[in-house]
Amino acid sequence: MSTGTPASAEVLSKYEAVIGLEVHVQLLTKTKIFCSCSTRFGDPPNSNTCPVCLGLPGALPVLNREAVTMAMKAALALDCAVNPRSRFARKNYFYPDLPKGYQISQYDEPLAEFGRIEIEVDGARKRIGVTRVHLEEDAGKMLHEGFADSDSRSYVDLNRSGVPLIEIVSEPDLRSPEEAYDYLTRLKTLMLYLEVSDCNMEEGSLRVDANVSVRPAGASMFGTKTEVKNLNSFRFLQKALAYEIERQVEVLEGGGTISQETRLWDSREQKTHGMRSKEFAHDYRYFPEPDLRPLAISEEWKEEVRRSLPELPQARRERFVREYALPEHDATQLTATRELANYFEEVAKATGEPKLAANWILSELTFLLNEANRDISQSPVSAPNLAGLLVLIQKGSISGKMGKEILAAMFASAKTANEVMAEKGLEQINDTERIIAVVREIMAANPKQVEQYRGGKTATLGWFVGQVMKATRGQANPPLVQEILKKELS
Ligand code: ADP
Ligand code: ZN
Ligand code: MG
Repeated sequence: MSTGTPASAEVLSKYEAVIGLEVHVQLLTKTKIFCSCSTRFGDPPNSNTCPVCLGLPGALPVLNREAVTMAMKAALALDCAVNPRSRFARKNYFYPDLPKGYQISQYDEPLAEFGRIEIEVDGARKRIGVTRVHLEEDAGKMLHEGFADSDSRSYVDLNRSGVPLIEIVSEPDLRSPEEAYDYLTRLKTLMLYLEVSDCNMEEGSLRVDANVSVRPAGASMFGTKTEVKNLNSFRFLQKALAYEIERQVEVLEGGGTISQETRLWDSREQKTHGMRSKEFAHDYRYFPEPDLRPLAISEEWKEEVRRSLPELPQARRERFVREYALPEHDATQLTATRELANYFEEVAKATGEPKLAANWILSELTFLLNEANRDISQSPVSAPNLAGLLVLIQKGSISGKMGKEILAAMFASAKTANEVMAEKGLEQINDTERIIAVVREIMAANPKQVEQYRGGKTATLGWFVGQVMKATRGQANPPLVQEILKKELS
């Protein structure tokens, strides 16, 4: 299908990409959307099942109120209008992981519509429309590997069947793989802040399908799109889109046309492959679900959910810049997760030094966490303990260099700065007599500098402080050293 000649940057620049994402987010309810089975991940196959989620004839679904509340949280945080009435529909198709032969979803009357996410493009804000947010049930999972007879058979695990999902569909407002990446990052951050999903891509609790087309730059009509599936990571999303854009440009440049189809990303080959479009030209024969009443959402319920929303990432980012005078970049990084933002605020408040706190968290602590493959919620250095260390640095009790060493030891042992210093014999020297002894020794060894100081060159004091700190391996209390030096030198 490709012409075989890779499109040059110049040719690519004559086109504009148009992208819309369909994102499935698994909700963190304890039980499934239409039955009381557990949603726990990793349990033995088919252990969390009942007649409803097994799709046995005659079993009736009962809507989980918590799933609706969580979906509403997401919808409101996405600035959507929540419909006072929405409706469930049957989406019919046949696949071994779908026991009923249909999925209960929402179709022409979704839970919420007309939302948005703001992304950043070249330093400016860009608004990406969210077409709709709807509720649906998940299907089961096919197990193709790991059994003695896996070469000839596949198995089905229905633990996931009936787990609540929301589908978040974007408008075709994205114009590059980078914009798509930014959109998905913000969407994920938002869901994590709301605590409606763990967004674990490996476990499938965040899934994304990308719709993409290209058109000549400046054109007003959209081109024909393809839908790319099997994007299991943010990197795959970006790579698959870049590949697909280039492929479509090559087809058009070669005089061909794009056929509307579903394509699969192959991460091994770093390519998308068309699935036979006939096979996937579904007619889902949607019709209203007769076993569930329309979903009515009162103004009171909606407002109650709105009041329960936490401070959202963007608001928090802006507050960090305002309240703590942080650079935009620091604020963005520190608000990447709610836990990190909480941690920062605790350290900033305890030390009264937000910029110092931000620097240490984003550099030293992040480095140690990355090395240990942990996130902030698993940090062996608690926020009060980091604050304790920073207070010592801020008072000049220890140097920044010593602080780094102490932090590494705190990280390895989960101890406080003072405990680490006591153990390493790094305690601060506050003993006046000891410091006087060191000062006199240094003065005796450096008569010329003493002369200079006494002759009015008071700047030499700094040099003396340095000598004393060096002689005490940084352990002497610097303000005390200054005080003693001034007395002894005069
Ligand atoms: P379909 O009927 O094929 O499901 P929809 O209109 O429901 O298509 O859109 C599905 C997704 O595809 C949405 O995210 C939308 O923004 C995106 N989309 C629609 N048209 C295009 C296009 N021409 N190019 C890229 N994305 C598109
Ligand atoms: Zn069940
Ligand atoms: Mg669609």
